[in-house]
Amino acid sequence: MEIKSAEFVISSPMVSMCPKDSKPEYAFIGRSNVGKSSLINMLCCNKKLAKTSATPGKTLLINHFIINKNWYLVDLPGYGFAKRSKKEIARLEQMINGYILQREQLVNVFVLVDVRLEAQKIDLDFINWLGNSSIPFAIVFTKADKLGPVKTQANVEMYKKKLSETWEELPPIFVTSSEKRQGRDELLSYIDSINKE
Ligand code: GDP
Repeated sequence: MEIKSAEFVISSPMVSMCPKDSKPEYAFIGRSNVGKSSLINMLCCNKKLAKTSATPGKTLLINHFIINKNWYLVDLPGYGFAKRSKKEIARLEQMINGYILQREQLVNVFVLVDVRLEAQKIDLDFINWLGNSSIPFAIVFTKADKLGPVKTQANVEMYKKKLSETWEELPPIFVTSSEKRQGRDELLSYIDSINKE
């Protein structure tokens, strides 16, 4: 798929305020600082589309971007909200869970995971919650350039092994680097293929 246009549409504090049309949506989520903004910008070839920032947890709303005028890329807030109040964490969780469970247009959730780290409980809990809720999702490993291909592959295999302890069937897995534009074609082709199903 070629990205001909990518435009920011709206930031919503709850699922009921998201766009009313029925275009398919693909959501991106991961721990703060996992490289979500960089990946979105890399996918859309637009350095400023999602604000890349070194400050964790900056995006606290559901952000809709319209791509090629026919599907939405949805930037969800990063989870793992260090330094936030209990009330704020509860609001964010309610917003994210509400969007994922209630949004009929949602086709797939892309869960971003830093390929350098061992499987983190917070990511596994989220992945297991998606699986148990029957939400279609894929795992996108980020920052592959920081490890190199051999260590990256070894870490991906370790992650798969960890997931196999809980799940018989593994989700689709993508390995990306926003620095090197790695994984872009694979991710866009995947979106294209499930869009047509
Ligand atoms: P977000 O909080 O998940 O949106 O993460 P950002 O996209 O803001 O990235 C967090 C930090 O990781 C920034 O300093 C980015 O420059 C860096 N980063 C993100 N993706 C990559 C990548 O693919 N390779 C490298 N080397 N650094 C990355």
